[in-house]
Amino acid sequence: MTRIIQIQKTDNVVIPTDAVPKGSSIEGGLVALDDIPQGHKIALQTLKKGDAVIRYGIIIGYLKQDVTAGAWINEYMLELPSPPPLEDMPWGTNVNAVLPSSPLKTFMGYDIPGAPYAGIRNILAIMPTVQCVSGVLNVAVERMKAELLPHYPNVDDIVPLNHAYGCGVAIGAREAHVWIRSLKNLLYNPNFGGEIMVVALGCEKLTPDMLLDTKKNTAENLIILQECKGFKAMVDALMSMAEQKLQKLNRRKRTELPLSKLCVGMQCGGSDTFSGVTSNPSAGYASDLLVNAGATVLFSEVTEVRDGVHLIAARCVDETTRNKLAAEMRWYDDYLDKGGIDRNANPTPGNKKGGLANIVEKAMGSIAKSGTAPVVEVLSPGERPSRQGLIYAATPASDIVCGPEQLASGIVLQVFMTGRGTPYGLAAAPVIKVSSRTVMKEMWNDLIDVNAGIIAESKETIEEVGLHLFNMIVDTASGRYKPWAEQYRLHNDLCIFNPAPIT
Ligand code: CA
Repeated sequence: MTRIIQIQKTDNVVIPTDAVPKGSSIEGGLVALDDIPQGHKIALQTLKKGDAVIRYGIIIGYLKQDVTAGAWINEYMLELPSPPPLEDMPWGTNVNAVLPSSPLKTFMGYDIPGAPYAGIRNILAIMPTVQCVSGVLNVAVERMKAELLPHYPNVDDIVPLNHAYGCGVAIGAREAHVWIRSLKNLLYNPNFGGEIMVVALGCEKLTPDMLLDTKKNTAENLIILQECKGFKAMVDALMSMAEQKLQKLNRRKRTELPLSKLCVGMQCGGSDTFSGVTSNPSAGYASDLLVNAGATVLFSEVTEVRDGVHLIAARCVDETTRNKLAAEMRWYDDYLDKGGIDRNANPTPGNKKGGLANIVEKAMGSIAKSGTAPVVEVLSPGERPSRQGLIYAATPASDIVCGPEQLASGIVLQVFMTGRGTPYGLAAAPVIKVSSRTVMKEMWNDLIDVNAGIIAESKETIEEVGLHLFNMIVDTASGRYKPWAEQYRLHNDLCIFNPAPIT
């Protein structure tokens, strides 16, 4: 008999752990009235057109037609509810969750004197001020890796932080600061060890002083290609500066540090209905363990929080945090509205095939990765934290944009939950992949680090998988484990969020 999963007692739909052929019996005495795909919704009771469909204890939509108990409820049958209002959201009403006690309090990291967070990898990062110089930079980096890097065994990698900004942009536009702040803060990601190397062209709008303060804006850290006499001189200058930086980075050593020096990011991508049942809740448990140990955890993805924003507001520790949460959501509502769409533009065809009917259902699964800890701060895209604990970093949900924005905020490692599968990875930080279903792990055994699908099969609990993930996070941070994406060097482009016009 097919097993079903009901999240809350008030839910009037359940999901089957496997596909259900029409006419077959389902746990709880139901008979399937349709061929129901794995993880899709089954009506627990007969419902009328206009009735609320409840999952996760909240209304995920209103029925466009009558359904009988045992019927398949798919995305075409649901009317989207209005998003929760942003005005006067109660805050501080759910901030006393008892967090699970962390079994570890320290990790082996690269401390940066005076910085709140430590690095977990030792990387020479080189940032162009403008895409125009990236061709030269890429050629130089290839040579650096071949000729210099082998002489500096304590340095893990040399990473060009190529991006699409810098010139041909409206640098004075209202929202231009989002990109500029992201680049500026990205330079100081702890995995780069505080060593700054910037390559400018010389005539671009994003001038080096916009990225570097006066102390750092020196010939020691900055090369301007228009001041170099020909291509060979450009590459020579880049090689020479890289060697200086590599010498310094090579002296870094891992030491035992408190977990309060660790900043970890969480995001999901290619989600399915099991993401909210297995992988995201176990990531939430790992997040609670990290926060209990004093670490900082960032979760993000505005459109995937919007429909559960009241639940996050209730976990905000003060009014300022709640107000910033509301302001970020409001800004994003307007941003989407200008594009003639709303938050429901988020779910992908793959999400829907995986059983997620709309953004409300996706959001309720997505926010499970935030665990139960209080939210101590809300960050605008690319901002750096000023507090430690669970933090909401308001980035787009797009995997390849959320990643760089969290890097700019200072994460040194990302945990990535997936249901449908994506080979996503970052050059600047290891990415641990958690699958929501066992079939995903079996399909991509050599890409998925943790299989949370065993939770749906009742082989392990959310807490057991969460603890396993927590230990893997600490092992990865300490350099004892390399996730698959890091081993294969799967490096996606840095797609920094740019809400501003280009010219
Ligand atoms: Ca995402």
